[in-house]
Amino acid sequence: MTTQVNTVIVGGGQAGLSVSHYLTRRAIEHVVLEQAEQPAEAWRNHRWDSFTLNTPRWQSRVPGVCYGEDDPDGFMQKQEVVAHLDDLAKQLPVRTSARVTSIRRHSASGCYIVTIEGGATIRACNVVVATGLYQTPKIPRVAGDFPADIQQLHSDAYRNPDQLLPGAVLVVGSAQSGAQIAEELCDSGRKVYLATGTAGRTPRGYRGKDANWWFAKMGQYDRTVSELPSPAAKFSGKPHISGTKGGHTINLHQFARDGITLLGRLKGVEGSVIKLADDLHDNLATADRAEAEFVNAVDAHIAAAGLSAPEERLPILRDGFDQKIVTELDLHGVGITNVVWATGYAFDFSLVKLPVTDADGFPVQARGVSAFSGLFFVGLPWLHTAKSGLIYGLNEDARYIADRIAERRNAAEEMRLRDASREQRQSHASTKWADRVMTLIWSSALSLVLDGFATYAIGLYPTAPHKPVQQADSTIVPAEATQQKR
Ligand SMILES: Cc1cc2nc3c(=O)[nH]c(=O)nc-3n(C[C@H](O)[C@H](O)[C@H](O)COP(=O)(O)OP(=O)(O)OC[C@H]3O[C@@H](n4cnc5c(N)ncnc54)[C@H](O)[C@@H]3O)c2cc1C
Repeated sequence: MTTQVNTVIVGGGQAGLSVSHYLTRRAIEHVVLEQAEQPAEAWRNHRWDSFTLNTPRWQSRVPGVCYGEDDPDGFMQKQEVVAHLDDLAKQLPVRTSARVTSIRRHSASGCYIVTIEGGATIRACNVVVATGLYQTPKIPRVAGDFPADIQQLHSDAYRNPDQLLPGAVLVVGSAQSGAQIAEELCDSGRKVYLATGTAGRTPRGYRGKDANWWFAKMGQYDRTVSELPSPAAKFSGKPHISGTKGGHTINLHQFARDGITLLGRLKGVEGSVIKLADDLHDNLATADRAEAEFVNAVDAHIAAAGLSAPEERLPILRDGFDQKIVTELDLHGVGITNVVWATGYAFDFSLVKLPVTDADGFPVQARGVSAFSGLFFVGLPWLHTAKSGLIYGLNEDARYIADRIAERRNAAEEMRLRDASREQRQSHASTKWADRVMTLIWSSALSLVLDGFATYAIGLYPTAPHKPVQQADSTIVPAEATQQKR
């Protein structure tokens, strides 16, 4: 069965719900299709139990939600985010358990046919793809070579330390998720090995303000995608930072001090022996450099803007550099029974049956607007600016897309009205012609009838007496009277 609606939004995460919120405010008919049983699936079922946003509340607001008592500088736990998104979804036309399997363009009409698992289709003038970028857990192929007795799970499926087998844990990947999970496991008393990567470090606070406050102040979130050094830069791992424990800095050197064994990048595995790159110290230096660059930028900004901010010297830790470079480690030998892959997510937009992606598989668009009229994307990192991939920037991007859809609706409505009024004018003109023609026909017919009647009458009464026409009977009106009547 095919139904029809102005706009279909695919995905009921924050991006899709935000577009729906703005379309609702503009009274544009639409539906949100969410594959899961409930909206906000990513926050509800794909984050660990203690997950806390890294962005403070002032940066993490969902549109259309009443916040009541607020703590703008605090950090929301995932349950709070889910509750806000549930509140928002209640006000919107969301259809759950509706997984979209394809989006095709109907070439004649330019409309889109959206197919839902099970076969139902929806015809729409606009489609907004809001399926996020963190779609499928990415696990390196090397995982298949690990010994069978080692439990493996992706950070997407990690919930808490109790879920793991007794024994030590190898966490692979040290961007935000990996570093936070390693810290939680260490805090719970587990022996942790962390295979590091090249993520940077941002101190939670500096000179009296949260790092994100400084980033905003320095205009970092408004940098556009065109300012990136390369297209691939939009996928780089996020720096270490955490919103847990009221918000704090995550520092790999501190990890070393707390007993976490730091390793270089994981290269492979042979039997129970993992092979590691000898890049640990380079990775540590990269993280330290990111922090130093941040500090320099803030200092320069304070000086240039003449701001008054307390002086601060961040602690300089070196403990990581004291750790030995290990290039081989026997998992069984050191009691590792679990591997947590904090190796990010893969994305796939092949449900859109149009050539809309670049060589990386990323949608080609400008601020979410694709080259196919009526097809939009939202909710992607660097969709437009540095804040696009955060709750902070999603609202702005969602509103922009809703505005474009409203423009299309208005343009279509204008065209419809123009067509209607042209048709009306044409029918008005033809009605006039028809009236004239009818008048002509009627008057000709009448005169024919009268002529006929006269002939008939003359024939009937050939000797009828003719009354002489007298001047007094004439209908000639005096000139003055004619002028007055006019
Ligand atoms: C580990 C992690 C931590 C993060 N921390 C923060 C943070 O602290 N602060 C912050 O601002 N941002 C954070 N982010 C980023 C944040 O998650 C995204 O900015 C935001 O969730 C994007 O929302 P979205 O709606 O685009 O995507 P998602 O929330 O992923 O929603 C996409 C939705 O689409 C649905 N879907 C997918 N495919 C289909 C289909 N074919 N048919 C129907 N439905 C479909 C999914 O089920 C899902 O509900 C984090 C991201 C990750 C992965």
